[in-house]
Amino acid sequence: MPAEIHLFVCRKDNYGVLLHDPSNGAAAAVDAPDAAAVNAALKEKGWKLTDILVTHHHEDHTAGIADLKRQHGCRVIAPRKEASRIPGVDVTVREGDFVTIGSMVGRVLETPGHTAGHIAYWFKSEKLAFVGDTLFSVGCGRVLEGTAETMWQSLLKLRNLPNDTQIYCGHEYTAANVHFALTIEPKNATLRARAEEVVRLVSSGRPTIPTTIAAEKSTNPFLRADVPGVAAGIGLTDAAPVQVFATIRARKDKF
Ligand SMILES: [Zn+2]
Repeated sequence: MPAEIHLFVCRKDNYGVLLHDPSNGAAAAVDAPDAAAVNAALKEKGWKLTDILVTHHHEDHTAGIADLKRQHGCRVIAPRKEASRIPGVDVTVREGDFVTIGSMVGRVLETPGHTAGHIAYWFKSEKLAFVGDTLFSVGCGRVLEGTAETMWQSLLKLRNLPNDTQIYCGHEYTAANVHFALTIEPKNATLRARAEEVVRLVSSGRPTIPTTIAAEKSTNPFLRADVPGVAAGIGLTDAAPVQVFATIRARKDKF
């Protein structure tokens, strides 16, 4: 039976996500930005929270964990390398581990760079990946606890997922990301089409998420640092992809 997903905006621009297995009622929240918002989403769907899948330790992804655990007795699964900075952790996971939500099995991918222990959850059969603040639609997270090389390798790991994988990220930043991406690749027709789509979605109050790996490969400048035309476009012909990535990231930080 296919997974059911419920996506909702909370705080200012965080995304909350519920992943539900209708065959047995299991439901996981991916991160817990805000307990009240997660509870409202559960109530709206009529789902019972069984698990929280934490991607990284930042407060805007973990603030709701303690209250939700107290209210629901749910299991909290978190990256081993950041477990000491996350409240209420029951199970720690690392690269290659599997997590089970009802009958759905997700694989843990370590994607350090935004934070040193950041992880993503990939549900291969359901064609879903929850990538936290590593990859955004047409963007990527700031490199706060790693090097450009660390982050680039993490993005390559996500880029290697199947093209039709639906990507759920931690924030709605797409409009600003598209604006920036057009400064890197103004002639990218797929990016220009995405820009128009994003304007339509945002102006009608709809999310730009999920995206797909295929869509990101053709529009996201951070996943395209090894495309010769992208390097040439920013004056870095023949530079190493990681140098191109670092340059694009530095420009975005100041954008
Ligand atoms: Zn973060």
